[in-house]
Amino acid sequence: MSISDKGFISSLLSKIDKAKRYVREPERFSITSDQAQVHSDHGTRNLMKKDNQWICDCNFHQEHLVCSHIIALKELNKIEKIDQLEI
Ligand SMILES: [Zn+2]
Repeated sequence: MSISDKGFISSLLSKIDKAKRYVREPERFSITSDQAQVHSDHGTRNLMKKDNQWICDCNFHQEHLVCSHIIALKELNKIEKIDQLEI
């Protein structure tokens, strides 16, 4: 495991913590079947479903294909469990 992988894991853990907090605040979400908005601590994130995968416009998702917003959305929707996330 490289140093940057360790950095990824620690930032992923903090994203999961943040996602848990978002899930407890469902008023942050507006969700339709293939689009969602999350009012995060750093502004509004736009998520959309494409080819059965959610994508998010935040920087972390563009780099790592996972982010707190999508984890929270999946948890909220119970679409998939967190341990089934492809990361
Ligand atoms: Zn995101």
